[in-house]
Amino acid sequence: MLTCNIIMDLVSIYHDGVASEDTVNAVNEHLEECRECKEFYEDYKKEKTANEEICLIPVDERKYHELSSKLRKRHIINTGLVSALTLGSGAYIVYNAGKTFKKKKK
Ligand SMILES: [Zn+2]
Repeated sequence: MLTCNIIMDLVSIYHDGVASEDTVNAVNEHLEECRECKEFYEDYKKEKTANEEICLIPVDERKYHELSSKLRKRHIINTGLVSALTLGSGAYIVYNAGKTFKKKKK
């Protein structure tokens, strides 16, 4: 006899039809007897179907390319800004350190 935890672990392979015949039979048996697992399985099915529907929404190729090139441009700008800031603050630190060092020397 399988426990509820085991059934919950098996639900995905059971639902996808990749479980062995023994597993399918054991899960079927348990689902007939256990209301909690049956409800869990019903929720799982609903969620899975909803997710599959989202994946099936056709992607507009042109919009996808527009968006990806926009994101790429933004990434390049961001990388440039970060590099400029890093270089700028590095130069500032070196400049000030140099000034402090010169002052101490005097
Ligand atoms: Zn159960």
